[in-house]
Amino acid sequence: MEFKEISRGVKIPVLGLGTWGMGGGTFPNPFTDKQSVAALRHGIKLGMTHIDTAEMYANGHTEEVVGEAIKPFDRENLFITSKVLPRNFRYDDVIEAAKRSLKRMKIEQMDLYLLHWFNPDIPLKETMFAMEYLLEQELTRFIGVSNFSVEEMKEAQSYLDKAKIVNNQVEYSLMRREPEKELLPFCQKNEIMLTAYSPLGHGALVKKKIPLLDALAKKYNKTSVQIALNWLISKDWVITIPKASNIKHVEENFGAVGWKLSKEDMEKLDKLVI
Ligand code: NAP
Repeated sequence: MEFKEISRGVKIPVLGLGTWGMGGGTFPNPFTDKQSVAALRHGIKLGMTHIDTAEMYANGHTEEVVGEAIKPFDRENLFITSKVLPRNFRYDDVIEAAKRSLKRMKIEQMDLYLLHWFNPDIPLKETMFAMEYLLEQELTRFIGVSNFSVEEMKEAQSYLDKAKIVNNQVEYSLMRREPEKELLPFCQKNEIMLTAYSPLGHGALVKKKIPLLDALAKKYNKTSVQIALNWLISKDWVITIPKASNIKHVEENFGAVGWKLSKEDMEKLDKLVI
């Protein structure tokens, strides 16, 4: 596995494991929890030790699936991210939500805790104070945000005394290029890790016929999925978290690591419009 430094001396795998949909929830899930646990364990064994989840997913059940999946592994070898729902952004609610997430995953501390998306109805200052409390109490090692604009990130950071927002998790893929306009340059300049979610367009990218991806797959003896993921993790301050409940998909995604697209091919992909 390759790693990037999310904070001084702390590394995070460039390729992690998404979990949205595992354990049921908002859309049909053809997999049993047992299959999801097996897929996560397989990914962890391969080195995809960053697991991304959220209290929202399957109303908390996904965190229980994660808890089951991580049981056989040494906690210190994993990087676990979860997220608090905007309706829980009041000071006490953030703390209670974090404790519930820890309980469901049967862990003492998260590595990274994120605000799932901006909530204009609750003062962000109050929420950030609660996030700082979680750091002080060592209920999480790092804090961050998700789906935040640059302005929202700046506001969140302004309420922090010593702590730093180390991460913004946003949708970013060959199909979704919005972060390139403002957010990615901001993160790169300020050394904030950008986690690209839905890197396969929630599966849509796989179903599409994209001639450039096919051509590059042939050239590098890789698959189109591996090209699409490699393009993301080749960018400074970008990591990603594809979700795969199918073990074959987990293995294919893992093949996105350990090799490099040439500068010219990166540029071709940068210009690709899907
Ligand atoms: P995704 O990772 O882009 O796509 C997942 C879909 O692609 C699944 O249907 C999966 O199928 C399929 N897939 C995975 N690897 C494949 C492969 N090698 N070949 C063919 N199909 C493959 O979408 P996502 O789940 O939306 O995003 C990833 C993660 O990001 C989520 O799980 C979640 O942890 C996070 N996320 C965060 C937010 C947020 O607001 N912060 C929003 C969305 C997602 P199988 O499951 O059948 O293997």
